[in-house]
Amino acid sequence: MKRTWVEINLSALRYNLRQIRKKLANKAKILAVIKDNAYGHGLLKVSQTLVKERIDYLGISNLREARELRKAGIKTPILNLGGISCKEEAEEIVRYEVAQTVYSRRIADLLSKQAARRNKKVKVHLKIDTGMGRLGVFTEEGIRLAKYISRRKNLQLEGIFTHFPDAEDRRFTLSQIRRFKAFLRGVIREGINFVYQHSANSTAFLNSPETWLNLIRPGLILYGIYPNLYLSKKFKLKPVLSWRTKVVYIKDIPKGWSVSYGRTWIAPKRERIAVLAIGYGEGYFHSLSNKARVLIKGDSFPIVGNVCMDQTMVRVNGDVKIGDEVILIGQQGDKQIKVEELAKLGKTIPYEIVCRLSHLAHIYKR
Ligand SMILES: *Cc1c(COP(=O)(O)O)cnc(C)c1O
Repeated sequence: MKRTWVEINLSALRYNLRQIRKKLANKAKILAVIKDNAYGHGLLKVSQTLVKERIDYLGISNLREARELRKAGIKTPILNLGGISCKEEAEEIVRYEVAQTVYSRRIADLLSKQAARRNKKVKVHLKIDTGMGRLGVFTEEGIRLAKYISRRKNLQLEGIFTHFPDAEDRRFTLSQIRRFKAFLRGVIREGINFVYQHSANSTAFLNSPETWLNLIRPGLILYGIYPNLYLSKKFKLKPVLSWRTKVVYIKDIPKGWSVSYGRTWIAPKRERIAVLAIGYGEGYFHSLSNKARVLIKGDSFPIVGNVCMDQTMVRVNGDVKIGDEVILIGQQGDKQIKVEELAKLGKTIPYEIVCRLSHLAHIYKR
């Protein structure tokens, strides 16, 4: 018996991928971003589903993910979007035949050396900082680094890419794309060859087709989550994840009785309270105290009092019974609680909500 679990609807994942493909209309390939345990959804099942749908590329952020995917027999190209800092990591890149993001000579040397030792060639994607201020070199340095890479016989410059810090700002995004395209022309003028040029994350894909180039890198929208809810008017997705728990106790409290730590909620009249088997220890944010709601038997009920480490209270009616299933995220009847809604109430981003669910039990529905 589980206190809390997530259900992953793999047919919704397939639906979202098809929606993305429909909009792309063959203009670009897709690198599905599955970093951080596929945004908490489960690395292997998500990847296997995408591979069956003939996904072009997978994007990870740590090499444990590469090991797991290769061990499961997945042969799809993988790009490590994260940085590496040591020889052991470079060894793993070579062993698991992962393409690596490169943003310095130091990394190029690390990879080239390990690849040479095994008589192999490592694919690399050169990262250009056009405004993210994270991994990546500035464009002036980029040409020199591209030349440096193309002279290394154990490296293959397979791709060049950049990243957007705020793809909702179309003006800034398009200025980044102009800078990036000018850079690409410069590289091509030098006679340097590469296969992929890419920049678009989920928001850029939805807002700015100018950013598609020949490969896009969606993460969040694959999971049916919108970076911002206004985008749901433009593009239809199905949420992949739902999050559930149970009612473990029910009690009636008199008017004026307080609930939970800090006594932040006082019953305005006689009330029925249900205790849920969930808390911030299992990813239900403390900042949702007195703000969020849950679904039980198709009805919506508010959280009352502060969320505890392992328990949370809701104000319910007479229909709710001990053992009833509780929807924290997901649909029940005609009602729905969206990740985006919880993120807003909890003053965080949808990404953080789902990443916190990584360690819960996952139930997969074909
Ligand atoms: C995480 C990540 C993405 C995917 O971003 P979404 O907003 O989830 O689509 C794309 N590119 C890079 C480099 C990333 O780190």
